[in-house]
Amino acid sequence: MTSDVQSEALAQARAAYDAVKAKGLKLNMQRGQPADADFDLSNGLLTALGETDTHMDGLDLRNYPGGVAGLPSARAMFGAYLDLKPENVIVWNNASLELQGYVLTFALLHGPRGGQPWAGQTPKMIVTTPGYDRHFLLLQTLGFELLTVDMQPDGPDVDAIERLAAADAGVKGVLFVPTYSNPGGETISADKARRLAGVKAAAPDFTIFADDAYRAHHLLPDAAGQDTPVNFVTLARDAGYPDRAFVFASTSKITFAGAGLGFVGSSEDNIRWLSKFLNAQSIGPNKVEQARHVKFLQAYPGGLEGLMNDHAALIAPKFRAVDEVLRQELGEGGEFATWTSPRGGYFISLDTAAPVASRVVQLADEAGVSLTPAGATYPGGQDPHDRNIRLAPTRPPVEEVYEAMRAVATCVRLATEEYRAAQR
Ligand code: PMP
Repeated sequence: MTSDVQSEALAQARAAYDAVKAKGLKLNMQRGQPADADFDLSNGLLTALGETDTHMDGLDLRNYPGGVAGLPSARAMFGAYLDLKPENVIVWNNASLELQGYVLTFALLHGPRGGQPWAGQTPKMIVTTPGYDRHFLLLQTLGFELLTVDMQPDGPDVDAIERLAAADAGVKGVLFVPTYSNPGGETISADKARRLAGVKAAAPDFTIFADDAYRAHHLLPDAAGQDTPVNFVTLARDAGYPDRAFVFASTSKITFAGAGLGFVGSSEDNIRWLSKFLNAQSIGPNKVEQARHVKFLQAYPGGLEGLMNDHAALIAPKFRAVDEVLRQELGEGGEFATWTSPRGGYFISLDTAAPVASRVVQLADEAGVSLTPAGATYPGGQDPHDRNIRLAPTRPPVEEVYEAMRAVATCVRLATEEYRAAQR
């Protein structure tokens, strides 16, 4: 391009941006939250139990007894969700992140079953990037050193995990999202999952922490359009490491984000190990909430799957809107950016062609469109390439997703042209 054409491209990009700014938008594409319409699907939860529904599974929901592993019906329901037997599951309170924190803390204090405490061994944990900022925050808060591997279209870079795990007994495991990952929506392939389950690690207690938050969060109702979740508990057992995997999930993106149920699946020995420590600090989780979820989800047309299909009908058009606008505005050749087209989950991951992610987020903010802070998808909030932006289309109405994405595309263009002008 001649320099006249280049300055013209920058001038056009700036004019387009000024026009967006003049609209006085106030849009938010950073919250990984359900929309009110999603929540409304589960309002029946609020009345799922009547005044006489005081008992379930022979237990008085109002009283203490029942133990820490959760209400039997809830263990059966969410065990089935994880493709596990009830005895392989603990159903806890409203956040799977809390359960992840407990398991990691107990591993630090007591060692995983039969092992040495991880604290004091300068434990390291492998995470995938781009990834979920709360995983990084949790692990760093607990004192883990983070080692990063790339998230690839078919799951984590298992070659890199094999190398890291084999090289150092301080590498205690990997924490990642196996299905429709945050932020890229990638799902681990069956082949990679098998390899990971059987990885030869220097640490005898190398552990797979699979945060399967989006296991059933497909965008399309038919199986042909869906990714297939894996079962790390059975894969690890079959690979000869029966206690190697913990799988976490919750109903946060199924029923109510702030008032759902978190649960964890693992070997029966690990469930006993975890129950022992949970029992020291709690007589048991909230059984009323568990009974409510069981009754509500059993009665929902088509059950949990029916509810997920209803979410998909609300969410899929928003994902389509992101893809449609980006294609229209930025083209498909990668001149300005590339982005993922997930078949499920809650996020889309966009990579700018030039190292301008933080500038894009700043421009968008100044135009009234709030995006996830650049860098959030890397430990310490530092994207070494300044390229990755997490897009969260689920919360705003679909028209706002269109409007916000047109603005984002304009910001990507301007930031890229500015960068190219500065390079000249
Ligand atoms: N894991 C992942 C991968 C998530 O994206 C989220 C929500 N953003 C959570 C966990 C939070 O789950 P919970 O509400 O069960 O703690």
